[in-house]
Parts: sequence; structure tokens; C-alpha cells
Amino acid sequence: MGGVRPLGGGPARIHATPAGPRGRERATQEAAPPRAAPDAAVAHGVRQELHDARETIRGLEAALSAAEGAADAARQEAEQARATVAAIARRAEDAEAAIADAERARDAADHERRAVQQQLAKERDHAREQARPTRAVRDALRARGLADEDEAAWAMRGWLDAGRLDEWLEALDAEDPNALAIFLEQRVSLVCDAEGCTPLAGAVVVPVAPERCDVCGGSDTRRALEHFVERCVESGLRRVRIVGGSPNYHTELRRLLGGDRRIELKLIRGDGRRNQNDAKNDQKHADIVIIWGGTILDHSTSGHYDPSAGRVLIVAHRGIAGMLQRATEALGQGQRN
Ligand SMILES: [Zn+2]
Repeated sequence: MGGVRPLGGGPARIHATPAGPRGRERATQEAAPPRAAPDAAVAHGVRQELHDARETIRGLEAALSAAEGAADAARQEAEQARATVAAIARRAEDAEAAIADAERARDAADHERRAVQQQLAKERDHAREQARPTRAVRDALRARGLADEDEAAWAMRGWLDAGRLDEWLEALDAEDPNALAIFLEQRVSLVCDAEGCTPLAGAVVVPVAPERCDVCGGSDTRRALEHFVERCVESGLRRVRIVGGSPNYHTELRRLLGGDRRIELKLIRGDGRRNQNDAKNDQKHADIVIIWGGTILDHSTSGHYDPSAGRVLIVAHRGIAGMLQRATEALGQGQRN
């Protein structure tokens, strides 16, 4: 506090002033009576001044102390404020870090979600691929003559209605690649509405135009048989054995041949129950054995017939007219040779 300074001319003057009764008495004895009153007044004034000065000092000290207290309080307050600001700053940093963490977590979740979506899409495509009939099945259906999805669906509905679903599934599931073709061979009949074009027994009938008919193929079956019989006669083949073909086809052939005695036609089932001895016997009593295999030849049947033991002709065609036409052509070639 720069304002504090000694009053009344400084401390030298205060110390020079005697205090106490003895000093006062000496002054009274030495001084002339007229001068005694002013000295006492001066001393009193000085004392008063001293007292006032001390009071002032005490007041100033108290003020200083209060000011120092206030300054301390202010410092503490400032300290607290700084601490509060620091705490808020730390919280802000923490919050920013938390936001950054949350953003990273969100990005990671987005990434994961995209990966899961891609995986799902891939699995969906795969499932769709699996659910779709395989190329092999489509090819087999087409090879059997089912031209489009409608015909394939028609056939499948037919197997379902006929209680052949298990058979169909087994054929699909079989390790033998021929199993499906054999099933389709035996369980589908594509026939036109011509008289005599009778479907295979136990097969689902898919109605088609004559040129796609399994039996006649759009040809005149009666005429095809006539040509065949003529060719057999020309070739000196009277005892004709045909192994294979469905019972319906056999019936139709017998009906068409009627009472014609130019050839002796014997029709033998080709269901795989023919053994080596049966085959040998067939060949012994035949001028020609025609193995009618449809499009799928049953090798357990055809394998028993020995070309060195007699004439054997294998015709892989399911329709009657087509089979007869092919046999006629083959016999003609044999004749020319
Ligand atoms: Zn037909």
C-alpha cells in the first residue's frame, strides 16, 4: 500500500517527543508557567496524531488483509474456473472421441452390412441356380422330345397324378446318367391323334402333332410295314424276330400285319429278362433278329445276341414307322453289299 507513510513529519519527531508523566513533570519544572500550556497541548496533539496514525495503520492493515483475502478468494475462484474449464475441455475431448468411436463403429457396421448383403445375394443366386432344373435335366427332357417348359410341366403333372413322383425323383437322383433317359423313355409318350398311335402303357401322354408322334412320326405306319415286309421277302428273310418295343407297339404291329403270311413275325419283350440261352434260341429260329431299342438300348438285352451266330440288326428309334423305315433301309444296304 503506497499510501501508507508516517504522519506529522516522520518517526524521528515521534520518538523525540517524551512520553509519560516524568517527562511531563520535568517539562513543567523547567519551563516557565506561561509556556507549560502550549507544550501539553502539543504533546496531546502528537499523541492524538500518533493514535490516529495507529488507527489508520490498523485500518489499512485490516483493509490490506481483507484485500489479500479477497485476492486469495479470487485466485481460488480463478483456479476453480480454470479447473472447470479444463474439465469441460476434457469432457469435450472425451465426447469427440466417443463420436469418433461411434462413427468408426457405424462405418464398420455399414461395411459388415454390405458384406452380409453381398453374401445373401450370392446365396440367393446359388439357391436359385440349385432350384432351377439343372442343364442335364433340361437336356434330357429336350432329348426325349419335350419341346418346351409347358410340355415338361405337363409331363411332370402327369407323373404326379399317376403316383410316379418317387420314380421321377429317383431317376433325377440316380448316379447312373442313363437313369433319367430311361425313365423318360418309359414314362412319356408323345402321340398324335391318328388311329393306331397308342401311347406306351404307364406313360404320361403328351399330345403332339403327327410329325412329332412317337408311333408314326407323321408317316403312314401301314405303308412303312408294307415296305419292310417287301424288303424282307426280297432279302430272303422270312422268320423275323423283333426284340423290344412296348406291348402297345406289339399290338399295333400285329394289327397292321393282320393275316399277312409272307413273313413269320415274332415279337419278344425287351425288358432285360432275356438271358443268353433265350437269345441263342431266338437266333437259332430266326433269319434276322431286330433289336428295337427305342433311343436307349438295353445292353443287357442286346448284348446277348451274337452277330456271328446270325443276322442281328440294332435299331435305336422308338416309333413304329421310324423303326420299320430304318430297318428297311439297313436291309437294303445289306442286300447291295
Ligand atoms: Zn401318330
